[in-house]
Amino acid sequence: MTLPSEVDVAIIGAGAAGLGAARALENSGLSVIVLEARDRVGGRGHTIIAAPDITFDLGCGWLHSADKNSFVDIAEQLDFEIDKTRPPWREQAFDGAFPLKERAEFIAALDAFYDRAAEAAKAGRDSSAADYLEPGNRWNPMIDAISTYVNGSELDQVSILDMNAYEDSEINWRVRRGYGALMEAYAASCPLALNTQVRLIDHSGNHVRIETSQGALNAGKVIVTVPTNLIADRAIRFHPALPEKVDAARGLPLGIADKVVLALDEPEALPKDGNLRGATMRTAMGTYHLRPFGQPCIEGYFGGSFARQLEDAGNGALAAQAIDEIVAFLGNGFRRRLKPLAESRWAHDPFARGSYSHALPGHAGDRAVLARPVDGRLFFAGEATSPNFFSTAHGARDSGERAAREVLTNGKFSASP
Ligand SMILES: Cc1cc2nc3c(=O)[nH]c(=O)nc-3n(C[C@H](O)[C@H](O)[C@H](O)COP(=O)(O)OP(=O)(O)OC[C@H]3O[C@@H](n4cnc5c(N)ncnc54)[C@H](O)[C@@H]3O)c2cc1C
Repeated sequence: MTLPSEVDVAIIGAGAAGLGAARALENSGLSVIVLEARDRVGGRGHTIIAAPDITFDLGCGWLHSADKNSFVDIAEQLDFEIDKTRPPWREQAFDGAFPLKERAEFIAALDAFYDRAAEAAKAGRDSSAADYLEPGNRWNPMIDAISTYVNGSELDQVSILDMNAYEDSEINWRVRRGYGALMEAYAASCPLALNTQVRLIDHSGNHVRIETSQGALNAGKVIVTVPTNLIADRAIRFHPALPEKVDAARGLPLGIADKVVLALDEPEALPKDGNLRGATMRTAMGTYHLRPFGQPCIEGYFGGSFARQLEDAGNGALAAQAIDEIVAFLGNGFRRRLKPLAESRWAHDPFARGSYSHALPGHAGDRAVLARPVDGRLFFAGEATSPNFFSTAHGARDSGERAAREVLTNGKFSASP
């Protein structure tokens, strides 16, 4: 679409947050445009058909805290089937890779770590989550590995106050046709300008001027939903500058999590929706979801500095690592049965630059700073601004709705020069 020269509200980014904001403004009578740099909607939600019988989410896949997740109702309204099979994370399909007794010890050590960190957080003083590992505990590297999957980062970079603020109801469902596909359907009625990269938001005058790769436009109000790393890197600039926002974004960096999907020959030999993980004493390792939804494939998940290292090694490194680990657990016969189909490289994605945000120790308060409106004209949403559901797709969507409410309650519109 050609850009309008003037709108009441410009929303920057068509991920879950931008779409949540656009849908909330739908019947407001305001003119709205969503400016999106990519040629698709969904941002960090992206479903692909990896093979005719394999649907794969390169980004978000789980409806976390499903009993409080606003995408559940949306999925029902849009006729997207929800799968309520319990996630296999705490189970294990093959006793050989991680014997039951050791697994019980590991789970006990993990829960004890969470309890210590939660207890410390109650005192209200922030510190690094790594401080609450029990010195010398043999499971520490694996507890750190779990952090790389959950936070996208090792524990020494994670604030306990922030970790404790996350609201996990421990109910996790999935969308059979894919979370990214659900976002696409949710976006169907949104006024979109794709392939439109915003470079500068000039709020020095009495209207906000937005410079994009497709030309400039004026807006009365702007909702910014781009990932924190882009604000921190000044990939999107403000004039006058907003150092408070840049600092807050730096306190909430995106950690790294990456996924790979491998086609599986003779799938019946492996259980549907099983989990595979080794009892290794390393943090640098993947975790595997066997035959998700019963599909003939295995999904691998890597996080933290190991995921970065694999991304840096180039396309195909995640798949090669995943195949080596699976073969080490299940035997050499599996090598010929696995075929790489697709893998993510979120840290190398110019419009994400990482996977999901975590607060650095001492920076739990930065989420509120990032979320705060500027001058009643600039509003901020995105997963990193969510007080309790940060790092998730529904947290992002809800934050967009919150920003839309702020737009509607914050004074007059003056898009005209
Ligand atoms: C591997 C992985 C697994 C995940 N698993 C889950 C999960 O199971 N469950 C869950 O709930 N969450 C999960 N997440 C997190 C979830 O995907 C994100 O928190 C959520 O999608 C973020 O939405 P957002 O709108 O805040 O940001 P984004 O989706 O990043 O949207 C921001 C948009 O802004 C656009 N943009 C950037 N720069 C510009 C610019 N200059 N001009 C215009 N547009 C721009 C981007 O292209 C993007 O579309 C996962 C993420 C990853 C990467």
